[in-house]
Amino acid sequence: MFQGIWIDKEDGQYRACLRGITKEQLPEGDVTVRVSHSTLNYKDALAITGKSPVVRQFPMVPGIDFAGVVETSSHPDYKSGDSVVLNGWGVGEKHWGGLAEFARVSGDWLVPLQAPFSLRQAMGIGTAGYTAMLCVMALERHGLTPDGGPVVVTGAAGGVGSVAVAVLARLGYEVSAVTGRPEQADYLTRLGARHIVERASLSAPGKPLAREQWAGAIDVAGGYVLANVCAAMCYRGVVAACGLASGMDFPATVAPFILRGVTLAGVDSVMAPRAERLQAWKRLASDLDVTLLEAITQEVPLARVLELAPQMLEGKVRGRVVVAVR
Ligand code: NDP
Repeated sequence: MFQGIWIDKEDGQYRACLRGITKEQLPEGDVTVRVSHSTLNYKDALAITGKSPVVRQFPMVPGIDFAGVVETSSHPDYKSGDSVVLNGWGVGEKHWGGLAEFARVSGDWLVPLQAPFSLRQAMGIGTAGYTAMLCVMALERHGLTPDGGPVVVTGAAGGVGSVAVAVLARLGYEVSAVTGRPEQADYLTRLGARHIVERASLSAPGKPLAREQWAGAIDVAGGYVLANVCAAMCYRGVVAACGLASGMDFPATVAPFILRGVTLAGVDSVMAPRAERLQAWKRLASDLDVTLLEAITQEVPLARVLELAPQMLEGKVRGRVVVAVR
């Protein structure tokens, strides 16, 4: 028996609890991993609370990412004792995930732990941090450089936002951090933000085009926030959109795209190709200050995940939540 978070739906009742699971119950897969750390991402919070249809089959062990040590493997790339990391691939949605002491997955979904990170640090970064790096890479792919002008990060005190601010600042960008929590201004400044922008200034309907403020943007919010960010981009600016913390809708006009040549680059971490994942982890190793990672991370035991999930959806959790599974 080992411990894990278990989500079930019986008689229309959605239920998440911590309970014992046996290894025989684990799903198909050629690698069994002893999970050391997992995390609580926004999507995990949606899955645990049932607020959004993230879980596609029941019962489900949530957890879209984990770091651990291979226990058994019949995959050619992995052997017992290897340290590995998993992000996405539908794990925690349609295949049992990382919020349990053991996971069994396809070895094709794993990547080796990136030096110099520990398993805990890799989960301090987690899917949120790896997505933040995919966003930075998307901005760069569209030609953004630190001397191109200031950049803006929305949901800055959250997981994706915190890592994005820290990485962009370290790369030399002038970062504006958008937050709905002004009390987090000192934290964001410590991560490297030069300006704090109140979320309220971007969350109501705005003009199709606003004053040109930013050359680049990373948006986790969607909704009016994303629409207003697009409207305030400089000529030929680029926006990496990865989230829906404000909403799934996009109440914008085409004005920024056709009059200012703004690029809206979508970022998905779940099915991102392996080469891009490896590149993102490599970049995190060089472009994220690990001492700042400590400031971003809080660690909780598996049992506290259930109580933190609703708080995360209310926007009350700061930075990254690492779950110490064992
Ligand atoms: P967090 O909960 O850690 O952070 C979200 C942040 O968004 C909050 O901390 C808050 O920051 C801000 N926020 C909350 N409510 C609103 C609102 N109504 N309007 C605007 N901003 C709001 O989540 P993550 O960082 O883990 O994920 C952020 C988003 O990115 C989620 O939507 C998630 O689903 C998505 N995501 C997408 C991925 C992909 O592959 N495309 C991968 C990972 C995440 P503050 O208090 O500073 O305003």
